[in-house]
Amino acid sequence: MTNAVHIENFNYKYSDGTSALADIGLSIPHGQKVALIGPNGAGKSTLLLAIGCFLKGSGRVEIDGLENTKKNIKQIRQRLGAVFQNPDEQLFMPRLLDDIAFGPLNMKLSKEEVIHRSYEALKTVGLEGLEDKEPHHLSAGQKRSAAIATILSMMPKIITMDEPDSNLDPRSRDNLINLLNSFEHTIIIASCNMNFVSRVCQRAILLDHGKIIADGDAKELMTDWQLMKDHGLEVIR
Ligand code: ADP
Ligand code: MG
Repeated sequence: MTNAVHIENFNYKYSDGTSALADIGLSIPHGQKVALIGPNGAGKSTLLLAIGCFLKGSGRVEIDGLENTKKNIKQIRQRLGAVFQNPDEQLFMPRLLDDIAFGPLNMKLSKEEVIHRSYEALKTVGLEGLEDKEPHHLSAGQKRSAAIATILSMMPKIITMDEPDSNLDPRSRDNLINLLNSFEHTIIIASCNMNFVSRVCQRAILLDHGKIIADGDAKELMTDWQLMKDHGLEVIR
């Protein structure tokens, strides 16, 4: 059985010489919801970029059994959707529906299929009726939902999200948690909000200084007072 994500011995240095990830190894089975936790600068965003095959480091990265080679990248993009930290990077069309239809249109699907998928994605994230809205007029919570819809319309098996709880009020956060809990996708969420990720993810991987410090049951890790304190994180109750 192939894993959703398999990484061996991965290292990454930014062009200015910053070593952002060192000796990363992990496997994520299909359907698992995983939190990438760690303080600011730990390497969470960089690891999500590596998983999304947006950067090339040394070591092995496989997505759904496909190695991150140039030849496989198109197939990988159809299987893995990345929700960026800033929704404005994902919303660039004048009309919300066009943003959501953008991915499936590029997949050369029929017009009917594109429209069907786009409306389904809008409905899933609770934005039905807003298809003609200008994306930059949406509220922060609606933008987050819209960014998720641009990914859902491509029907990926794996979804990554970078700090999806940032800028959300408690109700929008609860809505997002309910939405994520309703998904059967493999989901990988980077966050430094333990209360948020502990309500979605069964597994947590703790990163600090570019290395995996701990990998295990989310509740167990996040209630480990000493571990959380040593790495600048809060303990959940
Ligand atoms: P996190 O998401 O956990 O806050 P990042 O993955 O963004 O951490 O950053 C990991 C390390 O890489 C940090 O030391 C950060 O300063 C550095 N870094 C991130 N992006 C870049 C970049 N584009 N160029 C150089 N260094 C970077
Ligand atoms: Mg980050």
